[in-house]
Amino acid sequence: MTSIWLHDARPPTFPPLDPGRRIDTAVVGGGITGLVTALLLAEEGIEVAVLEADRLGGVTTGHTTGKISLLQATRASRIRTVHDDRVLRAYLDANREAKQWLLRYCADHDIPVQTAPAYTYAQTERAVPILRAELEATRKAGLPTEFVTDLDVPFPHCGAVRLDGQAQFDAMDAIAALARDLAARGVPVFEHTRVRGLRREGDRQTLDTEHGDLSAHTVVLATGTPILDRGGFFARLEPQRSYAAAFTVPGDFPTGMYISADAPVRTLRPIPTDRGDLLLVGGTGHGVGRTERARAHADDVVRWTQRHFPGAEPVFRWSAQDYHPIAELPYVGPLLPWNDRVLVATGFAKWGLTNGVAAARALVGRLTGKPPHLGGHLRQLAAARARGCADRHEGQWRCRTPAFLRLAGFRHPRRAAPRRAARRRRGPGGAQRARARRGVHRLRRHPPGVRGLPASGRHSHLERCRDVLGLPAARVALPARRRAAGGPRHPLAARRRRAPRP
Ligand SMILES: Cc1cc2nc3c(=O)[nH]c(=O)nc-3n(C[C@H](O)[C@H](O)[C@H](O)COP(=O)(O)OP(=O)(O)OC[C@H]3O[C@@H](n4cnc5c(N)ncnc54)[C@H](O)[C@@H]3O)c2cc1C
Repeated sequence: MTSIWLHDARPPTFPPLDPGRRIDTAVVGGGITGLVTALLLAEEGIEVAVLEADRLGGVTTGHTTGKISLLQATRASRIRTVHDDRVLRAYLDANREAKQWLLRYCADHDIPVQTAPAYTYAQTERAVPILRAELEATRKAGLPTEFVTDLDVPFPHCGAVRLDGQAQFDAMDAIAALARDLAARGVPVFEHTRVRGLRREGDRQTLDTEHGDLSAHTVVLATGTPILDRGGFFARLEPQRSYAAAFTVPGDFPTGMYISADAPVRTLRPIPTDRGDLLLVGGTGHGVGRTERARAHADDVVRWTQRHFPGAEPVFRWSAQDYHPIAELPYVGPLLPWNDRVLVATGFAKWGLTNGVAAARALVGRLTGKPPHLGGHLRQLAAARARGCADRHEGQWRCRTPAFLRLAGFRHPRRAAPRRAARRRRGPGGAQRARARRGVHRLRRHPPGVRGLPASGRHSHLERCRDVLGLPAARVALPARRRAAGGPRHPLAARRRRAPRP
């Protein structure tokens, strides 16, 4: 069960941690997210170190399909079921910028990249409406997608959404280049150094590792799913496992990158090698721990491939998992809203090659006070933000901070101005009284499954916490509802006020 990307992986090796070090920023996790974060921080002149439990790229990044695509199966339509078009546009713009960064990095470091069209296809007629929704969502967000019916593929299909000019690569090439880049900049990288915990000591964080302690001012957790049991991420991420294999195939096979819109998911792409092209086929995923037939899922990939590509023989087989966010957007920002010293990046829903880079850029922007360079729609929003014009929509103030940056904790600098004026008018305790009168913190958006709260354009403090944290809206609305009903405060809220901050 070795991934094709790892069997001859080329990253340089690094020693384990020598304990007792002090550093400005520690990045935990040596996948694409952690290494890009470390590189960008080093470029900004920040003293940074990387701690990796295993080998660099040895977990999800070394087990991907390696597609660098803005057409991400049905991500756009799924995001659109929960968020508005502006959020979707911001998500895709952040991914587009990340894709450009990654392709530029590959070009600068002679990393082979193949350009290919990406397809999201329907296996049955029932999935055609899903394709239509994806087409509409991506088009609305400015992607030049098109609906095609004739695919030159030997497996059954009922049409596809196609986006030209996407890319694919071996992510371990990028990991190797990033590792060499970090080493050349003198960034300490420690492999085989598992972080077991973190404690706060004064204004510093002490990382407890299997080889001793490391003290850092700021910690970035780029560990796939956050390793610290804080922030409730176990309830906000669904780990999903997938299976893949690389096949030798007699004769020709499709040269595009395909993924099905409907289950069981099938994902395909060619892999150029020195000894001819291989065909990568993956899918048949499931929630982690939700099957007793893991082997059957893996075998299904082989059976399906051999049915549609007679003579195909698997030469590498592997499985891997990634984390699906319940609110459909990645979580990028503080682990807990009041602690800016421990940051996380997670929830890439199996599209982390661009999302991981986007997260790294957003986190580094947050730490250095320089938001990433923005393009297209995001740039317009940023300009509005710089001018300080929160817009008024249906009588409500609406935060114009781009969604992806908002998730990373950036705030509209002048958005507070009208609220400060209102607060002055109301006098001490007035804001609380006003909220109690309204009965509930009004929330603009909420994750699926927590429907039924009044929507509004108002971006409340608690909503900001929810944005950073992805907290279910119902949870943050509860104390206000209780106050409105004259009942006691939420017990957690009272306890939180009394308890010393970690
Ligand atoms: C089957 C599959 C196919 C995919 N295909 C694609 C694709 O085609 N395109 C795409 O964009 N995305 C794809 N993805 C998603 C993408 O691969 C991931 O989102 C991305 O690699 C995540 O990178 P990461 O750096 O955040 O996490 P990882 O690569 O998992 O890196 C996290 C690192 O943290 C380390 N770590 C964990 N705990 C500790 C600890 N306690 N102490 C120290 N270190 C620790 C791990 O060892 C690991 O190296 C796919 C995912 C899967 C599962």
